[in-house]
Amino acid sequence: MEFAYSPRLADLKERARALTDTIMQFEDECERNNGISDESHATIKAAVLASGLQAINTPVEYGGAGLTVLEQAVVQDELGKLTNALWDTVWRPANPLTHATPEQRERYLIPGARGDRRDAVAISEANAGSDFSAASTTATPDGNGGYIINGEKWFVTVGDVADYLIVLANVEPDHAATIFLIDVDTPGVKIKHIPRYTHTFVYEHPEFTFENVRVGADAVLGGIGQGHDLTRDWFTEERLMIGARTIGAAERALTLAVDWARERVQGGEPLINRQLIQGMIADSVVDITTNRALTHQVAWEFDQADPNDADLRKTLHAKAATVKLAASEASNRVVDRAVQIFGGRGYIRDYPVERLWRELRVDRIWEGTSEIQRLVIANEANKRGLENLLSFRYEAGEK
Ligand SMILES: Cc1cc2nc3c(=O)[nH]c(=O)nc-3n(C[C@H](O)[C@H](O)[C@H](O)COP(=O)(O)OP(=O)(O)OC[C@H]3O[C@@H](n4cnc5c(N)ncnc54)[C@H](O)[C@@H]3O)c2cc1C
Repeated sequence: MEFAYSPRLADLKERARALTDTIMQFEDECERNNGISDESHATIKAAVLASGLQAINTPVEYGGAGLTVLEQAVVQDELGKLTNALWDTVWRPANPLTHATPEQRERYLIPGARGDRRDAVAISEANAGSDFSAASTTATPDGNGGYIINGEKWFVTVGDVADYLIVLANVEPDHAATIFLIDVDTPGVKIKHIPRYTHTFVYEHPEFTFENVRVGADAVLGGIGQGHDLTRDWFTEERLMIGARTIGAAERALTLAVDWARERVQGGEPLINRQLIQGMIADSVVDITTNRALTHQVAWEFDQADPNDADLRKTLHAKAATVKLAASEASNRVVDRAVQIFGGRGYIRDYPVERLWRELRVDRIWEGTSEIQRLVIANEANKRGLENLLSFRYEAGEK
């Protein structure tokens, strides 16, 4: 068993740290203005391309960094330290695009990897959240091989800047859940409303309406009826990356809190000398270290897995749920303690701990709530048994 970072992983971690430091300069601008200027976006884009960390999940031949899942987790752990969700400026085309046809690759994935196009994933609806199979957006065949899309999508992250959407709709009359690639400037696609959320996110999460939106057969991603499988694959990867990012965020919050506790004197003593403060620090160290180890382990297991082993994919789906549940809950505890250690200052938006505390809350909700992760894990325990869930799964040389 080898726990050291390989030279390549150490290099990636260092590059991600340097990129994170560059992007961190834009946090205050983002918090003040609920977003950053076009000029700042351009500066970040140039820095991302210079770092070689663009589209880390996309093969090198299509312009991405082509990282393994473990390598991606190490990079996301660093980027997670950014407040205002500025980690999302380091673009990563949604993983269902691995099913793109050669034409779709040319049109979406390759420019997306370069940072010249941007996707947003539109699955959720007013009445289809945790149960995304309840989605009611329809794709009615138009009689000429194309489809007419009608419906409404909620919470579309990056929807304000995306130029195409990855939309889950049901092909009628069989109600076959299917993913469509839809350019935002297609007639009938409209942003209906942009709600304000708890966090200050570098992008928005608009609600979209689709009114008689005409698309060709070439808009179908993966195949008719593949929609739920592609959505689950997207969740699996995203859940692991949420695990990685939230742990990075927790590390930043704890580092700031420990520095503050050393400096801040109350009652004649630095806070760090107080046992009640020490308890919060120790519990946070436990939360971070145990969850980072688990995230790395499961990411490594993904890299060993045979992608054609359907049973194993289901187990890994449940392992990613374990990571997401454990890491997002643990990092929420850490940022809450960090706010407490900062006292009143921890409640001021100028302080990164305040922003992290607000921003990490959504990690217990999106890409499946904590309750849904528990259902996924328990379902796996019931269906395939505990053994795979509780083990590392691989022995030396096995693949
Ligand atoms: C900021 C933000 C960004 C988002 N970005 C995107 C995006 O880019 N694309 C996208 O498609 N979606 C996105 N979402 C939607 C997100 O995935 C959903 O909010 C999430 O899946 C929960 O669905 P819901 O809000 O409808 O809550 P509901 O499903 O209504 O759940 C409400 C509560 O009931 C619980 N619950 C539901 N079902 C069960 C059950 N069977 N057993 C026990 N408890 C249950 C839930 O855990 C939760 O506590 C985003 C959401 C937010 C807040």
